[in-house]
Amino acid sequence: MSRARHLLVLGDQLTRGVGPLAASTPDTARVVMIESDALARRLPHHKQKLVLFLSAMRHHAQALRDDGFEVDYYREESFASGLTRHLAAHPGVTLETMAPSDWGCVDALRVAAERAGGRLVVHPNELWLTPDEEFDEWALGRKSLRLEHFYREVRRRTGWLMDDGAPAGGRWNFDADNRKTPDAGHAFPPAPRFEPDDTTRTVMREVEERYPDHFGSVDPFGWPVTRAQALEALEDFLRHRLASFGPYEDAMVAGEPTLYHSLLSPALNLGLLHPREVCERALAHAAEPSHGVPLQSIEGFLRQIAGWREFVHHVYRRGMPGLRTANGLEHDGRLPDLYWGAGTRMRCLAETVRQLGETGHAHHIQRLMVLGNFALIARVDPRELNDWFLACYVDALDWVVTPNVMGMSQYADLGTFTSKPYAASGKYVDRMSDYCAGCAYDPGKTTGDDACPLNTLYWDFLDHHAKRLGGNPRMALVLKSWERRDPESKAAILERAADVRGLLREGAL
Ligand code: FAD
Ligand code: SF4
Repeated sequence: MSRARHLLVLGDQLTRGVGPLAASTPDTARVVMIESDALARRLPHHKQKLVLFLSAMRHHAQALRDDGFEVDYYREESFASGLTRHLAAHPGVTLETMAPSDWGCVDALRVAAERAGGRLVVHPNELWLTPDEEFDEWALGRKSLRLEHFYREVRRRTGWLMDDGAPAGGRWNFDADNRKTPDAGHAFPPAPRFEPDDTTRTVMREVEERYPDHFGSVDPFGWPVTRAQALEALEDFLRHRLASFGPYEDAMVAGEPTLYHSLLSPALNLGLLHPREVCERALAHAAEPSHGVPLQSIEGFLRQIAGWREFVHHVYRRGMPGLRTANGLEHDGRLPDLYWGAGTRMRCLAETVRQLGETGHAHHIQRLMVLGNFALIARVDPRELNDWFLACYVDALDWVVTPNVMGMSQYADLGTFTSKPYAASGKYVDRMSDYCAGCAYDPGKTTGDDACPLNTLYWDFLDHHAKRLGGNPRMALVLKSWERRDPESKAAILERAADVRGLLREGAL
């Protein structure tokens, strides 16, 4: 029997840079990779998400073969049947892998390996910037976990954007400067697209044939599926979009899916890019004065990668399995069909869902303040929404969807790491986007047939949860303003809200 180690490479760990593969050569290790049909079918995953994962896995396997590695690549009904096949061919071997990021996977893998007569050794997952122990030590004794405190700790520890122990520019946070909306006709730089090669085109055909009823369209597919493409995508972002990333971070523009966002989440979540190299490259680029990157942009970007991305991973790791089933606000509404593309006259939602179907992507504010916000104030069951987010985005994995949806967006955990629900009326959407201008509804109205449904549902949400949220100091002002309204206007809003919910159920909103 060969003495080579058997390294199990999971679909979101497509890297040679870290983990057991980094220290291996074709003489010391062979690689095991498994495509699972059951995983692809568990939800009606966006077709481009399936193409992205499968194509990136096949490219990674080929790149390893080109470097001389023996790769056992299985296309199986389930992950367990792949392991069984491998262990039948190599009885009793020990498989090694980096710890999976999704909760429950390590136990499932271990059981499957042992059932098939093998063993599983799990190494730390080195695709994170902050090791588990470091986060846990920071979290020890804290009553609540807040991004801002964690992020400052990361800045101090790494020395990134620090001057003699103080934050560069004298402030930790430039969010208040990052609320700009572009003028009409603003020319955005085009986002890079990577033309599908033969491998990707084959996967696209297979996905169309095998999963015809899944969400979204397979075309036009242009996501990076190799390390080289991911690096090109990173450089493109640094050259063309980083400088304006900060100011326009929260803006939304109809027909402009990218604005100045990086579009790097798919490559990061597959392991094609390491968050450390993304931060270091961005900092180096911004440090060159001729590149014209203002502090508010590089700080805003660093906060996302070194702050939020790491933070939600650890919140998830510590909060599961309870986080996925939480429903602290006791919402039980069905997810409206419009989320699956059934159509709506609400332009903010119609535009975002259309864009999602075409690209498998929407940026943060569209996710949080349009899709998430509407589901929250319409009192949709957060667990159904979580599954929808998990299915419909190319960058969706449980570790990142669940904290963002259940915690940040739906407040289903009653604020274990956020200070208040992200509930907003149509006024927010009107301020930050151009959606309302072409909408059938009026963002200035709260009652009447043409009143913006977000306005109506927002006040209805506050009324419904007034008691529950009453003790939250960050909600005090807005709850007071609801309380002070005259009873007639309150009744009219609540009546219209009941109508809106009825129309939503009928698919007539
Ligand atoms: P940019 O705006 O360019 O930001 C840079 C990077 O920062 C992102 O690529 C991402 O890696 C990281 N980042 C920023 N915010 C977060 C965050 N809250 N959590 C984790 N990483 C963050 N992100 C995913 O990667 N996959 C998801 O399935 C996902 N679902 C989300 C669902 C909801 C309801 C919300 C509110 C957020 C979700 N996010 C998710 C976080 C964020 O919206 C996306 O990472 C971001 O929009 C990806 O686009 P981008 O690469 O252009 O990001
Ligand atoms: Fe959305 Fe309301 Fe604006 Fe229409 S008016 S786009 S429903 S926020």
